[in-house]
Amino acid sequence: MDKIKMTTPLVEMDGDEMTRILWKMIKDELLLPFIDLKTEYYDLGLEYRDETGDQVTVDSALAAKKYGVAVKCATITPNAARVKEYDLKEMYKSPNGTIRAILDGTVFRAPIVVKGIEPTVKTWKKPITIARHAYGDVYKASEMKIPGKGKAEIVYTAEDGTETRELIHEFDGPGIVQGMHNLNGSIDSFARSCFNYALETHQDLWFATKDTISKKYDHTFKDIFQDIYDADYKEKFEEAGIEYFYTLIDDAVARVIRSEGGYIWACKNYDGDVMSDMVATAFGSLAMMTSVLVAPDGTTEYEAAHGTVQRHYYKHLKGEETSTNSVATIFAWSGAIRKRGKLDGIDELVSFADKLEKATIDTIEGGTMTKDLALITTLDNVTTVNSEDFIKAIRATLEKML
Ligand code: NAP
Ligand code: MG
Repeated sequence: MDKIKMTTPLVEMDGDEMTRILWKMIKDELLLPFIDLKTEYYDLGLEYRDETGDQVTVDSALAAKKYGVAVKCATITPNAARVKEYDLKEMYKSPNGTIRAILDGTVFRAPIVVKGIEPTVKTWKKPITIARHAYGDVYKASEMKIPGKGKAEIVYTAEDGTETRELIHEFDGPGIVQGMHNLNGSIDSFARSCFNYALETHQDLWFATKDTISKKYDHTFKDIFQDIYDADYKEKFEEAGIEYFYTLIDDAVARVIRSEGGYIWACKNYDGDVMSDMVATAFGSLAMMTSVLVAPDGTTEYEAAHGTVQRHYYKHLKGEETSTNSVATIFAWSGAIRKRGKLDGIDELVSFADKLEKATIDTIEGGTMTKDLALITTLDNVTTVNSEDFIKAIRATLEKML
């Protein structure tokens, strides 16, 4: 069989620990035998980030912007323990944070749904994709403990010195206050990423805030979404036969629980933080969660939602067998390959991505899976395999399909 040819490179961002081991296995077993893989390689492994003073992370994000599609391995976000472990020159920022800031992107998290790993919520049949606005609100808030009697106000000082004041509260005794902000530009980018991704994945888009209570703050989110929808997306959504649906956050939560899934749920920063953990847990396994970063200009970066699986890596280093689930990392590759194929008009790449995903799902549904899934599956006659044998089992399924 001839290998599938590519015209434009994928931006490949390698990473750390166990996922770095899986990364190589996936390439060797599932990609390189079938595709003349063209990538522009960036090593975001912690050693090389340290060697370059983290410049490699910035370069990889700029390359993603240039080529439009990237695939990323999980990476260590250094903390004090890691600084010591890797003898780092400094405590570098999260690579995902750096890349997201450069691309001004929104993260979409979606579970991979397979038979035998049943969601806790029985009505859910299709994935629920959560888009979290990752800027501002309580994550960039100023807070104060109020010691006693007195007045707290919000003060805005314009460039010319004029002040606008709003009373927060006349305190009779001790209490607390908080000041949050957001930016119209950031909300605008968030909205565009959500509308674009809904079109790209052909799913309805839901958005919810508490605009009835928060008549300026939350209402601004609602208004910006609606204005952009009406101006730039209404016709495209109607053509595609998909819907933009706005409701109150509490109503949204109730509807999500009763729904079948199969839509994108855009969330403000805090809602997204909380709801993404709830949805991920209810769908079964963190190892089956994908994460896609979409910029308003369409640049897309695919990765697994989980981390570098450090505990398994240390077992691996000791020569012990691991049973680490590579599904989300495989789907990061298939997502990027499909997107590249679509952009470059290479149908073979798109169809290879479909087959790779189907082979992965069929392998699990056929009863061969890693330990994390074996522990929660409803299937009988399960074969639990190690990290490498799982990928080899997928290859065997894939070869039968090609
Ligand atoms: P983690 O790597 O997501 O793993 C936490 C635990 O979840 C694992 O110990 C394992 O449980 C289970 N797990 C996660 N992925 C799995 C998989 N693919 N297969 C099987 N089990 C899986 O989180 P962490 O251990 O807290 O973080 C490790 C490093 O990852 C940190 O340095 C952190 O900075 C980094 N991180 C990176 C990203 C990213 O790049 N996107 C995201 C999160 C964390 P058991 O041990 O019980 O088997
Ligand atoms: Mg959270």
